[in-house]
Amino acid sequence: MIVVGAGLSGSEVAWGLARLRVPTLLITTSLDTIAALPGDGWAFAPPASGLLARLSVEAGGPDAWRARDLHRAVKRELEREGALHVLQSTVTGLLSDRDGRVRGVDTWEGVPREADRVALCVGSFLAARLRIGATEEVAGRLSELADDSLYEDLEARGVVFERRRLTLAGDDLSPGYEVEHSVLASGEVGEDGAMLRLPGLYAFGLCAGGSPDLQQSARAGVAALRTLAR
Ligand SMILES: Cc1cc2nc3c(=O)[nH]c(=O)nc-3n(C[C@H](O)[C@H](O)[C@H](O)COP(=O)(O)OP(=O)(O)OC[C@H]3O[C@@H](n4cnc5c(N)ncnc54)[C@H](O)[C@@H]3O)c2cc1C
Repeated sequence: MIVVGAGLSGSEVAWGLARLRVPTLLITTSLDTIAALPGDGWAFAPPASGLLARLSVEAGGPDAWRARDLHRAVKRELEREGALHVLQSTVTGLLSDRDGRVRGVDTWEGVPREADRVALCVGSFLAARLRIGATEEVAGRLSELADDSLYEDLEARGVVFERRRLTLAGDDLSPGYEVEHSVLASGEVGEDGAMLRLPGLYAFGLCAGGSPDLQQSARAGVAALRTLAR
């Protein structure tokens, strides 16, 4: 199994699969932004089960997390799982067989990675444009670079998207900014996360059309196991 993106949804999916002994490759653009939150002061109630639930009990509740602590704890737990390998890379497209079934991914370095199934958990990073005042960057969150290749590959396969806009107010530590990005249009993803046009491909969290809500993304990752563990 390949999981693309180590936000909250992808981290929950990959960790849950590894606990079930499913050999899993989690590919994410930067190991430094695993389970990154938009700001240091964010706290949210974790799902009832899964990785964050476990960390929450250890930490004495989500209010005890700072963004940096959460990143470190999630990264540690992911790397501890023997069935899981976390790879720093950017997925640029899909590999598929003659029947159109997704069989893996292409990466930015040009190394193909094969799998029976692929789950996209790429959040606000599809065709993402971040704006601070008059400055525009190709980024899905502040200081987190995006790349348009995966979006372009999906679009070339006929996948339809909706455009969304997220804004974050500035504070003492960070400037306010806006991210415009694409999510899969309703009708592209079934209730179980399977993409209807592309067998073997799944999507969970914000990129699947979920709400821009940390708790919802984490929950989506835990719920994904009901589909993927089959
Ligand atoms: C401007 C802004 C405002 C927000 N406001 C709120 C709010 O009000 N309330 C709230 O709860 N949350 C808010 N959020 C948080 C946001 O909603 C969460 O990030 C969201 O829940 C998405 O979680 P996710 O796990 O689906 O994806 P993300 O957390 O976005 O994680 C996606 C991961 O995938 C990786 N990735 C992307 N593309 C690739 C690729 N091609 N190859 C490899 N890796 C890739 C990224 O590097 C990233 O690590 C906001 C975020 C932003 C940017």
